[in-house]
Amino acid sequence: MSTDGLHIRCHGVSKDFGGQLVLKDVTFEIRVPHVLALIGPSGGGKSTLLRVLGGLIAPSAGTVEVNSQVLAKVESGLASYRKRIGTVFQAYNLFPHLTALENVMLPLKEVHHFPDAEARAKTALSRFRLADHMAKRPAELSGGQRQRVAIARALAIEPAFLLMDEPTSALDPEMTAEILEVISGLRNEGRPLVLVTHAMGFARSIADHVLFIGDGRIIESAPAGEFFSAPQAPEAAQFLEKIL
Ligand code: ADP
Ligand code: MG
Repeated sequence: MSTDGLHIRCHGVSKDFGGQLVLKDVTFEIRVPHVLALIGPSGGGKSTLLRVLGGLIAPSAGTVEVNSQVLAKVESGLASYRKRIGTVFQAYNLFPHLTALENVMLPLKEVHHFPDAEARAKTALSRFRLADHMAKRPAELSGGQRQRVAIARALAIEPAFLLMDEPTSALDPEMTAEILEVISGLRNEGRPLVLVTHAMGFARSIADHVLFIGDGRIIESAPAGEFFSAPQAPEAAQFLEKIL
């Protein structure tokens, strides 16, 4: 388990999707003890950068280094890196035909080959108050419960760090509050988190550092306190004015 936070270096990172340049020569270096928030307008490249950092996709150009590990340049070379990272997405990505327990067990068994997969899965689910819901399929769970299953699944593998992409954007306000509380609880246990969110109040309360991303570029990189009280880039100031 990593307790030293995250040290990320990106140099000249670009990503091209069929001729559309989605990340444009992204270069930055940051150290964050707990939480890095990626913020910015829709379509700006936040999810793409998150996927690059998680080894889910390889950049078209440039180098990425996370905690001193230089990431492979091709997707096939990223498999072992990717295995060590927990990911939670907006729409939960649970398998609809599997129970909560089976969903959490699947990567533990199939990817990580833990002999005690079932016990691990039950421990993870219990931790998020899902002990009574383990036999239910996603359709039988509330949105907040589903997202807790997704978080339990991501954490059960004991990932080096967690990536979350708008984990509350599909939830109603009550469920959002519940999930934000769960994420706050994770903050202090020493597992770093990279979080894409539109919940600015939450980002302000939880993040150490903010990358403001727009049009495929890092427009501002700043400690969260500074970013939210006095954003330097006009685009960032305008964005915060609109959203707060
Ligand atoms: P954000 O998360 O900030 O909303 P994204 O990283 O999802 O932004 O997307 C940035 C741009 O890249 C958008 O224009 C989107 O349509 C495009 N894009 C993202 N993923 C793909 C893909 N797999 N294929 C083609 N275009 C993509
Ligand atoms: Mg996105």
